[in-house]
Amino acid sequence: MKRLLAGLICCWVLHAAHPIWAQNAKREPITLTPAALEIHRQSFVFDGHNDLPWELRSRADAGFVKFDIAQPQSTLHTDIARLKQGGVGAQFWSAYVPADTMKTGDALLQTLEQIDLIHRLTRRYAETFELARTVSDIERIRRAGKIASLIGVEGGHSIQNSLSVLRQLHALGVRYMTLTHSDTLDWADAATDTAKSDGLSPFGEEVVREMNRLGMLVDISHVSVATMHDALRISRAPVIASHSSAFAVAQHPRNVPDEILAQLREKDGVVMINFFSGFVDPEGAKIMAKMFDVFRELREKYPDDADFDRAKARWRKEHPIPRGSVHTIVDHIDHVVKIAGIERVGLGSDFDGVSSLPEQLDDVSMYPYITQELLNRGYTAEQIGQINSGNILRVLRKAEQVAAESR
Ligand SMILES: [Zn+2]
Repeated sequence: MKRLLAGLICCWVLHAAHPIWAQNAKREPITLTPAALEIHRQSFVFDGHNDLPWELRSRADAGFVKFDIAQPQSTLHTDIARLKQGGVGAQFWSAYVPADTMKTGDALLQTLEQIDLIHRLTRRYAETFELARTVSDIERIRRAGKIASLIGVEGGHSIQNSLSVLRQLHALGVRYMTLTHSDTLDWADAATDTAKSDGLSPFGEEVVREMNRLGMLVDISHVSVATMHDALRISRAPVIASHSSAFAVAQHPRNVPDEILAQLREKDGVVMINFFSGFVDPEGAKIMAKMFDVFRELREKYPDDADFDRAKARWRKEHPIPRGSVHTIVDHIDHVVKIAGIERVGLGSDFDGVSSLPEQLDDVSMYPYITQELLNRGYTAEQIGQINSGNILRVLRKAEQVAAESR
């Protein structure tokens, strides 16, 4: 027992990992300390995925009248005051459109509308946001005290099988593309659908090469493990998972398995931890494992958007999940650090895109609780800065270098 305990303590020292026995103990709510708040203030949060644009499209006619985020918005996870409270300095806004737009043929149309919405968001609130296309843009915008706003496209269906479209999305400011969303494409397999190409097809490999050439990050959230392997093999720039957690901690197919984390140690990249209870809580992940299959069936059954949304809400109500807590999120961070290294983890909340969030992580104001728990577990200020924004900045910079070298 003593040896086991010594082993655990050694583990803790080496990896700042939370020992197993403590994970199972009752977890108290976290109290913010001045020390943690100071560390949080010195760095800034660069979050990998926020779905506010989809909320504005689906609930507010793609405008800023119904939800003016300069005012507190109790039915959203995001508004300006809470972004500032949370120490958010850079944000990848998601230009998400549903995977079934592949079938209806308006994937690109809707994607362009969502990109336009993000551009309009930065202009409407120009004193708070500014569109960033490069790391030096981010640094300049940060110096001006504003939130650097970047665009991520969530799913390769958006390019409608065209590299020309991919290049035009880059020209509009898109700086990552998730290779798939929930559904498998002609050229890339999703984690939550049947496989077609056993990873990437030859065209899928072409897409990754073109993204490298452009300086657009390759995002392996949502894709199958075979697609992750192929993306890592083909990509010359570091890849990201913009909003995914660790499979070893919570067994949901949306999470990243250890075999991929181990490769990231060699190849560089960053896994930005998703906060959705259904992906991070071990019990929640089991209950939610079939979520995307269920939603696909409901979509077939309810072609009308409002009916579909109601059916999804009903299903969620019938399948309650444990929320998890900030402790749960830091378990995922610990695990990625243990397998892939401190340089390979970040934050990709999925705020305004999910139906359940961990305790003390209800909205964008609450990132300091993660900093506090990291500090409680022995992470240094420097390491916390890497997690909050340093790692994703490094990876973006490397992707820019790869693009510059291929010109
Ligand atoms: Zn997503």
